[in-house]
Amino acid sequence: MRAQERQLAWVRLGIVALAAAFLLIAAPTMPGIEILLALLGVVAAWSVLVFWLLRRFPAREVGILSTVVEMAAVTIAVYVAVDAEDLYLVYGLVILGAALRFGLGAAVWSSVVMTGMYLAVVLPGDRLDEAALDALPVHVAYLIGFGVVAGLFSRIVIGRAEENARLQAQLVEEERQREQTRERELLSRLGRDFGASLERNATLEAIAVGSAPVLGGATLVFTVDDVERCLEPAAAAGPDGELVDAWRAFADGRRPRLGEGLIGSVGATTATRQATASEIQTGDPDGMRALGIDWLVAVPILAGGRLQGVLATAGRSDRPLEERIRRMAEAVAERAGPALQNAQLWSDLQDRMAREQAATRIKDDFLSIVSHELRTPLTSIQGYSQLLEGRLRGEHDGESKEMAHLRVIRSQVGRMRRLVDDLLDVSRIDRRGGVSIEPIDFDLADELREAVGRLRREHPDRNVAITAPDSLPLHADRDRLGQVLSNLLENAVKYSPDGGPIEVVAERRGGEIEVRVSDAGIGIPAEHRENVFERFYQADGDAGRRRFGGLGLGLYISRAIIDAHSGRIWASANTEATSGSVFGFRIPRVAMPLATSEIAPTGEAPDFVLRRREE
Ligand code: ADP
Repeated sequence: MRAQERQLAWVRLGIVALAAAFLLIAAPTMPGIEILLALLGVVAAWSVLVFWLLRRFPAREVGILSTVVEMAAVTIAVYVAVDAEDLYLVYGLVILGAALRFGLGAAVWSSVVMTGMYLAVVLPGDRLDEAALDALPVHVAYLIGFGVVAGLFSRIVIGRAEENARLQAQLVEEERQREQTRERELLSRLGRDFGASLERNATLEAIAVGSAPVLGGATLVFTVDDVERCLEPAAAAGPDGELVDAWRAFADGRRPRLGEGLIGSVGATTATRQATASEIQTGDPDGMRALGIDWLVAVPILAGGRLQGVLATAGRSDRPLEERIRRMAEAVAERAGPALQNAQLWSDLQDRMAREQAATRIKDDFLSIVSHELRTPLTSIQGYSQLLEGRLRGEHDGESKEMAHLRVIRSQVGRMRRLVDDLLDVSRIDRRGGVSIEPIDFDLADELREAVGRLRREHPDRNVAITAPDSLPLHADRDRLGQVLSNLLENAVKYSPDGGPIEVVAERRGGEIEVRVSDAGIGIPAEHRENVFERFYQADGDAGRRRFGGLGLGLYISRAIIDAHSGRIWASANTEATSGSVFGFRIPRVAMPLATSEIAPTGEAPDFVLRRREE
């Protein structure tokens, strides 16, 4: 409709020019010619005004107004002109308007109406002479014929043009939709690519390389240097290799300061900015004139309310700045923000882990050195006190006060040695990731009876019962299992300070052997039960309020030993007594020692430890 009105205005201007020429050449002396010419001037002015009106008002309203102006002009002309019979030519103006605006039907109708009007104007007056009357059928035929021809012209030419325009618009729209789909797909692929790696440099590279094809000739990703208050070029890519290299080298030498220049101000205000060739040439805020770029767009990369970096893209005249590029740059930055934030979090985490690992290593080394250093003097104290005891026994031939004192010394030194041995074991477990075992064939039932016998001797006041088959042949590390048994038995005594029975049960379970040690002591609150196997963990309060001695290592070492036998150790409440706990373990009857490669070298828990913890 808008295009039609515009065409019509041109046609109107043409007809006005023709009519004016016709009047001036054919009838220069005609009365009222001045008014007719003025009228043609008004119609011409209106036609020019239409172009302006079409930009501000709907085409339909402009069309209606045009029809009114045409009709008014024709009517005035008819009454002004003395020789009205020639004015049928001017009616053509209205017929043509109707044809172009409303098509064939309207053209025919308007030609019939115009003919009627023409006859109504010319027939009644004294204007008709003989010759004019003869020409009347020709004039009428002209008006009707003009209506039909103009209508057909409108239908064929304008209709086709309209159809073409419609098809063209449809094609453009389809292309626009395809472009949008392509952009959406590309952006979602970029979003995935950006997050594919947690490594910061790889992420920065993915952002630059992934987005470069849809942005300018060169694209740079800057990261923020909070200390220096500037932006650091971190990755660059783009189809214009020469510009990429030149810009990268330039930015390396002159890092944008936050708040300065176009790129720096994006970093400070976190708002997108762009510069055209003339702005770069005149202001050149970033000193980039020498690069010969025609435009520059910089967008902030944000995540979690923080500036993660700036994405800047620039092009030369071969790749002009389009609205699409700016839109894509913003969409790319939107996806790059979370990816960079994740990469930053990951690198912070890795730094922290590395620091913690270094600290743990220093502590482990310290533990190992101290334990070794303590062991030597303890061994010699133990040796010499044994020697003294032997000599005293020879001299006094019976019990003496000194011998009793020496026994106390030996038992305390023995305690200290056990503590130091525990510390050494822990440092070995932490360094190697577990305990290594040396399995041999032995009878666990004998081992159990021996351990219980020892306990009874050391604590004659305690009631210790044992239920076990006569023989429990086993292929395992005898010393290490002995260590687990004494730890469980000593704990049972230690954590039942008010006495109460202690019971040891051992039995076969398929291809495995299960041992349980129960007491009726203080028990372990359910929430601590799994944690007592952690190193240095003690369930009875923190270091300042503890009732019982110890380092909280016995169960940690026991678990490592049972793990090394591919077994399982657990703690539960003693449901058969009013209080107390049951500690049990289960191991295969034939233990397979783990190969050294299965023991992690740097303190990481080996697979079998992890497996156990997950259960
Ligand atoms: P320690 O006995 O040297 O503290 P352990 O590793 O042997 O270290 O035990 C860890 C913790 O588990 C103990 O501090 C204690 O709180 C709890 N615990 C162990 N055995 C028992 C038990 N039989 N009854 C109650 N609590 C126990």
